[in-house]
Amino acid sequence: MPVIQLISERALAYYLECPMRSAGSIIMPESPVLACAEETARWLIAEICGGRQPSAGETREFYDAQWKRTARFQSRGSIPLKDYQRLVLEGVRACRRLRDIMWRCEIIEPVASYTLPIGGVLITGGYAVLRSSRRKKHAFALYLRHQGVRIKRLVPDIVSFARRLDLANRWTDPANRHWGVQSIGVMHFWASRDLSAEHTSDRDFATDVLHGAVGVVTGNPFSIPGDHCRFCPTRACRPDDVARPRDTEALPQKL
Ligand code: SF4
Repeated sequence: MPVIQLISERALAYYLECPMRSAGSIIMPESPVLACAEETARWLIAEICGGRQPSAGETREFYDAQWKRTARFQSRGSIPLKDYQRLVLEGVRACRRLRDIMWRCEIIEPVASYTLPIGGVLITGGYAVLRSSRRKKHAFALYLRHQGVRIKRLVPDIVSFARRLDLANRWTDPANRHWGVQSIGVMHFWASRDLSAEHTSDRDFATDVLHGAVGVVTGNPFSIPGDHCRFCPTRACRPDDVARPRDTEALPQKL
């Protein structure tokens, strides 16, 4: 009987960047600003769905409580003041941006986890479903992003394709007919920059992309040198190379 692998959407994106780098380590570098923004978004959505309207101050308070739990906050003394202040400022912007999108959109479904079976692998993740108050017939999965912006056109990653396909499954489920939407997409929403872009791929194409990605997980690992090598935690492709990253904080975010 084949072994069913379980992999989170983000772990899959990390693995695809370089399977060699992931060897022996399942700890992914994570942006503390993004992690706090995601927790804050989850909380805001739950509050709004519960009939509350948290104020800007309460939102900031919640974000700050998350921030104080991060390793980045704990080790702030070892970070140049300017860099630390930049991160704090990004947090302030993230709170404003989150409130902005929550108040402009209707929450169709709060954050819910999903499990997507693709070629013997179960991809897991979670997202909320929203719709703009100006586009009632279109729903989107919210995908918070941070950094990694060098785009003129959006280049969707594997997280986006996984959410796209899962949302398509949910959308066509008769139990969700009350959504009343005619199209769906994945909204890439940068937490601390005034930038967002929607990914609206064809369902069959999303399925093909995910099958290809899963094939990488189940096949033999191979190295893919690129920009991300500068921050590689293992340099597994170069066992003779002792170079190590100096600051994983600055990792470009593909999550
Ligand atoms: S240095 Fe680059 S190619 Fe080598 S293992 Fe790390 S990320 Fe992969």
